[in-house]
Amino acid sequence: MTEKEVLQFRFILEQELAALDMRTRGRETLEISNEADPLDVTQSAAARDFEAGNISRIAAKVRLIREAIARIQDGTYGECERCEEPIPVKRMNAVPWALYCVRCQEAVDRDRHEHDGDLEPDRAAA
Ligand SMILES: [Zn+2]
Repeated sequence: MTEKEVLQFRFILEQELAALDMRTRGRETLEISNEADPLDVTQSAAARDFEAGNISRIAAKVRLIREAIARIQDGTYGECERCEEPIPVKRMNAVPWALYCVRCQEAVDRDRHEHDGDLEPDRAAA
């Protein structure tokens, strides 16, 4: 990966991080308005559950993006964490925070599935 490509990815990652940050802030506002409306408790609880699922997914993605930015700083960005081969730029374009090449990602997903059941917060990264 060229230095210019790395810079572009860094820009994309930082934009994505800022967008996610804004979404988590929007949720705090929503919770305050729920409390102000006690007539709507059941619906609020369901909405909160739904939001909670989203939030943990967002938190997992924020972590992945932060790690990707740290790898850019380390100079290891774009390298597969498992086999240490360069991840194809085409894959990095699709998933700029990818930790693994496609083959390793599949192996990792399989492992995780066997060990943790349906706990797969970064499924969207596949
Ligand atoms: Zn790999």
